[in-house]
Amino acid sequence: MKKKPRELVPAAKPPPSSLAPIQPAVSAKNSLLSKNTIRGYVRDWKDFFQVESIEAITVPMCLQVAPEQVASFRDRLIEQGLGPGTIARKLTALRTLFDYLVQRGMMVLNPAHPKLVRGPKRGTVKKMERLSLEEARRFLGAIDRTTPRGRRDYALIMTDLHMGLRRSEALGIRSDQFKVDGDRAYLIFRSKGEKERMVTVNQDLAAALAAYAPDRGNTPGWLFPGRDPRKPLSGDQFWRIVQGYLEAAGISKKVGTHGLRATFITHNIELGTPLSEVQKTVGHSRPETTLGYARDLEMIKSRAPKAMEGMSAPEKEQLAEELYGRGSMRRTPVGPGTRWGRLVVVKALLKNDASHVRWACVCDCGRKVEVLGYNLAKKCGNTRSCGLGECLRLVKEQKKAAALKTEP
Ligand SMILES: [Zn+2]
Repeated sequence: MKKKPRELVPAAKPPPSSLAPIQPAVSAKNSLLSKNTIRGYVRDWKDFFQVESIEAITVPMCLQVAPEQVASFRDRLIEQGLGPGTIARKLTALRTLFDYLVQRGMMVLNPAHPKLVRGPKRGTVKKMERLSLEEARRFLGAIDRTTPRGRRDYALIMTDLHMGLRRSEALGIRSDQFKVDGDRAYLIFRSKGEKERMVTVNQDLAAALAAYAPDRGNTPGWLFPGRDPRKPLSGDQFWRIVQGYLEAAGISKKVGTHGLRATFITHNIELGTPLSEVQKTVGHSRPETTLGYARDLEMIKSRAPKAMEGMSAPEKEQLAEELYGRGSMRRTPVGPGTRWGRLVVVKALLKNDASHVRWACVCDCGRKVEVLGYNLAKKCGNTRSCGLGECLRLVKEQKKAAALKTEP
């Protein structure tokens, strides 16, 4: 008796009518996976495809999924602040679904394959102590810059965000350290035994400092004086200022001043600013420092999906081989143009029965045959020709004829 291939999630049975519409890709019933696992998977699948029920997920929908979509799904989960374990589980759910389709010969490549879309490494993505882009905008928007107090807070927060300084250093800036020269602005630092160091201030910060300058007047001393003008604002006061605006913006995340800075750096990198640019903007002397803030993000971004768009069938096949390995464990890299023994795949015939995709093939002997997807797979079946007795003889004759033709 022929052993049936093991099914992770059995597909829905074909309906009696051959005119039935496109079938759902999977069914949660009769699964070999535990009920709880399936329940979790179904939730993740629905979440990914943005559908109400599992029946709405069809094979053509799955075929359209590119690794980029899986990656943006993953990034959305990261943005939502989910832990790496949860995200990994959700990616596994997607992989299981596509694996199932690949095993049945319905898909060439699993778009959620770990080598195409990497999951976040455990321990590298901390629970978000930073703001999302939208939250960061809301946070800065909560500062009322029509008041002197607001202009000061804005200048202070921008200084903290844009300069590569420790909090105490930012608060310790004296007003004469800020210089404007034409359309350029600088902060000048002098440290013991060192030359003057001029750090270019980016436009946003320069504007914030310029707007704040008239409020301060030309009084020398601390750029951000505290209640006692002989002292700068304290770190605690700064922290309270930040918390006040977070509250005003309706953000309940626990984000300290350090988290704000991390927010700024990661979003800049996220928005496509090269690391070297960000490093310059925030005034880090070493790129490692910038990376330190953005490390989590870099980790993820280096796991960007491999672009599959525009790949030719042979290229896809090569990638499939890379992913699944050559040899017996190779799953089912079937697609138009794929050769299996004497058969060359022409196209997929997605008939009413989604669980058994047929592939239209042409045999070397010239016959046209339809073969079930998993019969082409080395793992399951082993169909390599049209299967008729005289097939091999015909092919040999054709080869002989061709050889005679080419001889002079
Ligand atoms: Zn044949």
